[in-house]
Amino acid sequence: MTEQAPAPFEPLDEDWERALAVVAHPDDMEYGAAAAVARWTSQGKTVVYAMVTSGEAGIDSMEPERCRPVREAEQITSAALVGVDTVEFLGHPDGVLDYGLALRRDISRVIRRHRPEIVITCNFRDTYGGTFPNQADHIAAGRATLDAIRDAGNRWVFPDLTAQGHEPWDGVRQLWALGSPQARHAVDTTEFFAAGVASLKAHQAYLAGLGGSMADAEGFLESMGRATGSRLGVPFAASFEVLPLRF
Ligand SMILES: [Zn+2]
Repeated sequence: MTEQAPAPFEPLDEDWERALAVVAHPDDMEYGAAAAVARWTSQGKTVVYAMVTSGEAGIDSMEPERCRPVREAEQITSAALVGVDTVEFLGHPDGVLDYGLALRRDISRVIRRHRPEIVITCNFRDTYGGTFPNQADHIAAGRATLDAIRDAGNRWVFPDLTAQGHEPWDGVRQLWALGSPQARHAVDTTEFFAAGVASLKAHQAYLAGLGGSMADAEGFLESMGRATGSRLGVPFAASFEVLPLRF
């Protein structure tokens, strides 16, 4: 049996001004999407990051209370390297993130405050492709973000947010899930590859604790970026699963 080449990617829509990335952990954006963010901020777009957890359970040798400020500081540095000035931490617990109304409410509040046209989130499918299983926090954060987009647009869902002055926002046109095995779209990141590597390398303490192939920032991003780029006809690219939310 001959192996079929994977289908080419479609280019992502870049006709927007404001995006909000809601991901489970510091470092989630940097494993593939940060170079794309560098491209967008260089075009004058605004991208805001919201971290659902602070990744405080991510370093085996560091207790969560000591780890939290380290990882938050690394994420702020990492974001600044790709033109992101605003990083918010929602304070949900790392490793044991619960999909639920508390999470949907908090994400909904962030969406109402920042009023994005595009929301980016983690892969929330069961795997990353093949049989490699996804991680529970990513699935919870991604699914809650999808639901929170609808919640943000409805005045009667979480009326406490409206009472606090966070008016509904139904302007999110698309949700983009990074690292998804169902990705059909991608964006050329060739010019911003180095910025993406720098952004991942800013997670110094995390990478030092991690070891293995995922701690090799440049090597990991190069092999992923090239494989994606080959399906868009460019040297490097980042892929996303696009879920349209308006017709
Ligand atoms: Zn993660």
